[in-house]
Amino acid sequence: MVLTREERLVHAEKSLIALSAGDAFGDQFFMLDNRNVSPETGVPPAPWAWSDDTEMACSVVDVLRRFGEIDQDALAEAFAERFDIGRRYGAGAFELLERIQRGDHWHRASRELFDGKGSFGNGNRISAQDTVPFALWAAATRLTDYEAAVRACVMVGGDMDTTAAIVGGVVGAHLGPDGIPSAWRKSREPLPGWLTNAT
Ligand SMILES: [Mg+2]
Repeated sequence: MVLTREERLVHAEKSLIALSAGDAFGDQFFMLDNRNVSPETGVPPAPWAWSDDTEMACSVVDVLRRFGEIDQDALAEAFAERFDIGRRYGAGAFELLERIQRGDHWHRASRELFDGKGSFGNGNRISAQDTVPFALWAAATRLTDYEAAVRACVMVGGDMDTTAAIVGGVVGAHLGPDGIPSAWRKSREPLPGWLTNAT
């Protein structure tokens, strides 16, 4: 089945909702106040703010809307323009996006970071290069159960806002936003107005 550009965009927008709920849920488990909330069954108190993972995913959807594909220059510009330090970016992303904001070309700036070796991600809790393989395994083995898939990320720990974001986005693309527990959708911070008001 070949999807039209519009159909692909609808999938991306639905996936973004599920990604942001996973990100916001996972990020709550870094907070000291939530240290007694059970990853298996607990529900952190609302509201759940999302982090850098959602902010950058919003820019991805924005670029897809405008170009119908990932235009790398436009995406780098969007990342830099919307960079908000309060969203807990990793040190590498912080430096990269600041350089782009100052006028450096993203290609050169990204090549020069980390002696040209990259960071395997942009999260401030990236600890290994197995983030994506783990997230894809968690999503593939729980593809019909959004809550179980996202909870698997916080049960394992580590870079759990990012893994929960990836897993949430993949499972959400399969199930649609109805797969997200309604209480989670209410607790999650809404997506930014610059994105939702543009539709
Ligand atoms: Mg994050």
